[in-house]
Amino acid sequence: MTEVGNDVAKAAELLSRGLLVAIPTETVYGLAANALNEPAVLRIFEVKARPRFDPLIVHGADQDRLSTYVKDFPNWASTLAARFWPGPLTLVLPKKDIIPDLVTSGLSTVAVRVPLSPLTHELLLQVDFPLAAPSANPFGYVSPTTPSHVLDQLGGHIPYILNGGECSVGIESTIVAEESGKIHVLRLGGVSVEEIEALVGPVTIGGIEGSAPGTLKHHYATRTPLTLGPIDPLTVDTQRTGILSFQKRYPEIPLEHQVVLSPEGDLRKASSYLFAAMRHLDALGLRKILAEPFPEVGLGRAINDRLRRAANAA
Ligand code: AMP
Ligand code: MG
Repeated sequence: MTEVGNDVAKAAELLSRGLLVAIPTETVYGLAANALNEPAVLRIFEVKARPRFDPLIVHGADQDRLSTYVKDFPNWASTLAARFWPGPLTLVLPKKDIIPDLVTSGLSTVAVRVPLSPLTHELLLQVDFPLAAPSANPFGYVSPTTPSHVLDQLGGHIPYILNGGECSVGIESTIVAEESGKIHVLRLGGVSVEEIEALVGPVTIGGIEGSAPGTLKHHYATRTPLTLGPIDPLTVDTQRTGILSFQKRYPEIPLEHQVVLSPEGDLRKASSYLFAAMRHLDALGLRKILAEPFPEVGLGRAINDRLRRAANAA
């Protein structure tokens, strides 16, 4: 059965034996395995039902330790790492052979990150290997931001969940890569594009041809069909629609069918509650969920990205 606790030594011991442990990070809960142990990594793909063409992010305690697994930290990468690590930023860099191809889906690069979470930091210091960890949820569903989200979906499939409470950022990391001297943001996330551009100049948002399978269009999906669009209480079937709004509450719609992410208009706060709100509305058993588009600035871009993908799956 699955135990939930804050015993870092126990988590380290399970991981050393090739077992999986769910770990807290500031972004979302991760489903971790020893990244250097292929059978353990394979188990991640099995438990999540994740396609093997979708590469994993490798987590380390600091940049120095991650240097063991990548060929080099070029200037742009060191600049971003110095500013945002530990934090919600993932860097794609040429990998060393020690990282199994299974982790990178056969790519010559590996995605690396230093997460910000006291328990996970302590865990990464205790083990002598890096942790491969995608989000701790079945592939395609909304990512978990609390231990109970993990337990709901993976309970019985993993021995241990390291309990670090609620994730403070609540949305996945921003993934950055370089090609022919150009910086690309492959996935919008917890560090905004504006913050990255302030350090490395203009970036391209989107994939690099022939590199990663990229981030899939259908993802982060609720079981209840979700649509993204303006909320007009006059045209909504108010009894059967869940409403996800940024700041505004709608008196015409039953209170219990609405989640307002941040009445004061704080995009950081809104993104930290986004996935929990999607799960909450999904559990109400309604006909559909209607989410309003967020401002296309700062973390609002990452929120819109997740909502768009959830809507694509509907
Ligand atoms: P997650 O599902 O949050 O663990 O994030 C994994 C995502 O990181 C993958 O779906 C890819 O989009 C991206 N990724 C991982 N490794 C690489 C890589 N070597 N090159 C490009 N993107 C990568
Ligand atoms: Mg995921």
